[in-house]
Amino acid sequence: MTSKRPRIGIMGGTFDPVHYGHLVTAEGARCEYKLDQVLFLPSGKPPHKSMSKVSDAEHRYMMTVLATLTNPHFEVSRLDIDREGVSYTIDSLRSLQRFYGPEAELFFITGADAIFEITGWKDSDEYLTIAHFIAAARPGFCLEELPVATQRWVGQHGDRFHVLNVPAMAISSTEIRERVKKGISIRYLVPEPVEHYIMRHNLYL
Ligand code: NAP
Repeated sequence: MTSKRPRIGIMGGTFDPVHYGHLVTAEGARCEYKLDQVLFLPSGKPPHKSMSKVSDAEHRYMMTVLATLTNPHFEVSRLDIDREGVSYTIDSLRSLQRFYGPEAELFFITGADAIFEITGWKDSDEYLTIAHFIAAARPGFCLEELPVATQRWVGQHGDRFHVLNVPAMAISSTEIRERVKKGISIRYLVPEPVEHYIMRHNLYL
């Protein structure tokens, strides 16, 4: 009897705040790549961002929990938030590989724009040996848009790098923060509990 290898999606992001673009991406990846589960992994201290510009990790974690509650295939991890120091993705993937064991197939999901500079990330040669990469992109994105070094990185294990077209990629956390600051509605851009959380905690003002 053969047992199926578990297929785990790992949705990496700052999620400041989490929005419908992220949720549509995660669900799209789950269906397209037949994932058993998608684990949202909010960064604790993102390596490429100044912490003075990023909301408190507990707020970002709570909003991600609220946004994912109704999907039984979604979970949220505190791994990066509880780990001391900078949240390097390679450290998270190594921990998750140990946690899920060698049988599990891992799929790291993030925005295509986020991986532009991946060749500069810590131990970038190791990523595609640990996990598949799913780059969420607006329709029409082509690999030639990536810097040449990143295209070479993709080419190392091309069968483990995937592009997922997501029309809802037009929604962005930056735009949501700006709308809140200007007092413009964010209804239907984020789930209602997230909208209420942002208002209750006076985020992004
Ligand atoms: P970012 O640089 O703020 O985002 C770049 C673009 O990708 C934005 O348009 C962003 O949209 C989008 N995006 C980010 N995460 C997404 C997701 N899960 N699904 C769909 N689109 C997404 O990206 P970030 O959120 O800070 O980082 C993305 C991931 O890369 C995180 O897991 C982070 O830890 C990792 N990372 C690791 C290193 C490293 O290890 N050295 C360096 C940089 C990034 P929104 O702004 O709307 O989310």
